[in-house]
Amino acid sequence: MTSIRSQLTPLSDALHDSPLLSVQSLSVFFRTAGGAVARAVDGVSFTVDAGETVCVVGESGCGKSVTAMSLLRLVAPPGKIEPGSAIRFDGRDLLTLPDEALRDIRGQHIAMIFQEPSTALNPVLTVGSQVAEVVRVHTTASRHEAWQRAVEMLTQVGIADPAVRAKQYPHELSGGMRQRVMIAMALVMHPKLVIADEPTTALDVTIQAQILELLREMRAKNGMALLLITHDLGVVAEMASRVIVMYAGRVVEEAPVSALFSAAAHPYTEGLLAAVPRLGVEQTRLTTIPGTVPPSTDWPTGCRFRDRCAYAFDRCAIEEPTLLQVGSAHRARCHLIEEPERRVPRADRLT
Ligand code: SF4
Repeated sequence: MTSIRSQLTPLSDALHDSPLLSVQSLSVFFRTAGGAVARAVDGVSFTVDAGETVCVVGESGCGKSVTAMSLLRLVAPPGKIEPGSAIRFDGRDLLTLPDEALRDIRGQHIAMIFQEPSTALNPVLTVGSQVAEVVRVHTTASRHEAWQRAVEMLTQVGIADPAVRAKQYPHELSGGMRQRVMIAMALVMHPKLVIADEPTTALDVTIQAQILELLREMRAKNGMALLLITHDLGVVAEMASRVIVMYAGRVVEEAPVSALFSAAAHPYTEGLLAAVPRLGVEQTRLTTIPGTVPPSTDWPTGCRFRDRCAYAFDRCAIEEPTLLQVGSAHRARCHLIEEPERRVPRADRLT
């Protein structure tokens, strides 16, 4: 019988030409108490190459976090990944992998950093022992060796007096320091992929910048790929090489970061970019996208963005657009790509 360990190693034997992570037709639904089906993620496909930083952007309720949780099968019931979805990591099918093998991948080869470190850290264990525990779970290191590695890792993520801090509890540390501990836990096994879900949202602006800089440094040093979930286009501009824009459970645009910022093709992306305050540009008021993301129990027919779109025309109400090629590695889900002459904003939709 094949052992769990032999199913997992060596991960680096996987085909070098294939992406590190490949998500194909991922759909996740939740059955609500009233019996309705919420299709939170609906046919999402994307890839992440080794060493690449890909940002997933969109407003709350667009399916970004559910997508991230699905990658490690962390969607809690009543959430369910639909048959036909496929997630491959380094040549392995994560959706059919036995639980024990998947546990070995989590933390060792794919790590997650969450938005709120205070809820992700165990309040009754010292931070050093929480980092050391990751080492103990995935290696044969002794308690002492694991502790040494934990302290080393706390040093690498910029925690001053790491030997002292390691013996402290999460509540004794500032929010920024707790997030550094989370990053130490995520990186201590040198994973190939780190998934970070809004890792700086709960932090002050100056600490945010430090944490992003730390992630960038650690990515460059360890060569890991980073899948960064964020609603903040400033973070995207700083970090991403490629961007995936999600709206109403769908990918609506995918592009290299420079193409997205210079020539966004989807009106939703255009709206997100217009809503970013710009330094040195006089703005009498901030532009906003009118309305809100529709509920996932009731996605509109046709284009899901049509009720908020300044360019919506009759075809948008009856036919859902598919992802169409806009340029090199740039795709968008909008009828305007086939009918560019329709890109004339409706006066009643301008904000
Ligand atoms: Fe707007 Fe129509 Fe494009 Fe949807 S398909 S984004 S409604 S123009």
